[in-house]
Amino acid sequence: MEHGNGRTAAIIGAGPAGLYLLAELLETGAFRRIDVYEATPAPFGLVRYGVAPDHPKTRGIARVLAAGFESTEARYFGNVYVGRDISLEELRRSYDAVAVSTGMRGDRDLGVPGEDLPGSIGASELVAWYTGHPDAPKITLPENLDTAVVVGAGNVALDVARILAREPDTLIPTSMPRAVVEALQASPLHDVHLVARRGPAQAKFTSPELREIGKLDDVDVVVDPAELHLEAEDETEVETRRQARTTVKVLGEWSERARTGAPRRIHFHFWRRPVRVTGDTSVTGVELAPTRPDTAGPAHLPAQLLVRAIGYHGTAIAGLPFDADSGTVPSADGRVVTREAVLAGVYVTGWLRRGPSGVIGTNRPDAAEVAASILADLPTAAPTSGSPEDVEALLTTRETNHLSWDDWHRLEAYETEQGQQHGGDPIVVDDLETVLRVIGRPPQD
Ligand SMILES: Cc1cc2nc3c(=O)[nH]c(=O)nc-3n(C[C@H](O)[C@H](O)[C@H](O)COP(=O)(O)OP(=O)(O)OC[C@H]3O[C@@H](n4cnc5c(N)ncnc54)[C@H](O)[C@@H]3O)c2cc1C
Repeated sequence: MEHGNGRTAAIIGAGPAGLYLLAELLETGAFRRIDVYEATPAPFGLVRYGVAPDHPKTRGIARVLAAGFESTEARYFGNVYVGRDISLEELRRSYDAVAVSTGMRGDRDLGVPGEDLPGSIGASELVAWYTGHPDAPKITLPENLDTAVVVGAGNVALDVARILAREPDTLIPTSMPRAVVEALQASPLHDVHLVARRGPAQAKFTSPELREIGKLDDVDVVVDPAELHLEAEDETEVETRRQARTTVKVLGEWSERARTGAPRRIHFHFWRRPVRVTGDTSVTGVELAPTRPDTAGPAHLPAQLLVRAIGYHGTAIAGLPFDADSGTVPSADGRVVTREAVLAGVYVTGWLRRGPSGVIGTNRPDAAEVAASILADLPTAAPTSGSPEDVEALLTTRETNHLSWDDWHRLEAYETEQGQQHGGDPIVVDDLETVLRVIGRPPQD
């Protein structure tokens, strides 16, 4: 059905990529309606359920991302999981363009024996728990947890190490759900080991995040200077990449610092890979093997918690091609491509398009590119057989309990009020039942 008064677009996923795309498409003035479908009740994707609670400034980007919903053309449908509550096909029938920006959720595996033992978890699971993702299992930290091992050499590994190592009372004024703060307060954790397969020059830490580790109160940072030794290839890395230069410099400074006797420690270990997770009924430690012959240091780290922070991975969506190796949807200029052809009217943006790299802002030029492809295709787009109103009717019939933008504001106001009671940031509501109660939705039978 052609609607004369402008075209229609659906965006699946209200993370940074989806919401930057919303802004780009609104800017064109070509659309009478742009609807955003989001699986969780609340918007903002990993800005809410990834960015660490002790980084409120970064989480504040949500305010910028929300701006699109001030336009009358944009609508929000929260708590709608595409592929379950509504299918991709149903959306394709009803919108001129459908853009998928569902990001990545799962963790890559280490592929070593023992990694399924209780006490071994993926970073995405731990992060989802401590940021209050409503679908995340509520984690019970191992009893007598005194030591944790975090495997990975990127910012997610740093986030996890920092959140675990910092004095838990400093998390009280953050957005972290209270049950999580209490669980961390009750845990006797005092040592966190960061294990990286390669050297400091190859680590993917960004400078501010790395430097922050050295500024934590009551935490000593332990670095073995022998592991900072650089081979010719590492030297090249340091010469050519500013980030590598800073990482090596900062770690070098820390390796010379005397320990202060602080109650908690973060240890960096390079050139090691886990080969086995030890324990019969739960994790008791991690066996490490050197990845360079001259690496000394412990071959076994006793620990009760192992966190794999070696990369996020996407999940397939019914009706879309999917590259299982990279966890991304194949595309050309943002147009989804199957082995045979372009999937007409379907686009992909954000992590699901590029893979899990870059900062929040990287999704902006990505979305701009995809918006340009959408706009270029509109004149030749086949007419749709349905309309956005049909989708809304389907959701109502299916009793999906979807949230509007006004509902989100109600939830936001409640979270703000909860935060004020603790003298801090809005506290994330981490369960659907409370969300529905707060927005005044009667409980379902
Ligand atoms: C732990 C962690 C910390 C980070 N910290 C920072 C930081 O401090 N600074 C920074 O710049 N970057 C940070 N990043 C990176 C940043 O979060 C990403 O670049 C960005 O969120 C990717 O955007 P996206 O929209 O592609 O995906 P996402 O943010 O993951 O958004 C995808 C959205 O799609 C929704 N969705 C998924 N499946 C469906 C479905 N079937 N139907 C409907 N909706 C669906 C999800 O619920 C989600 O809301 C961090 C990433 C992680 C993992």
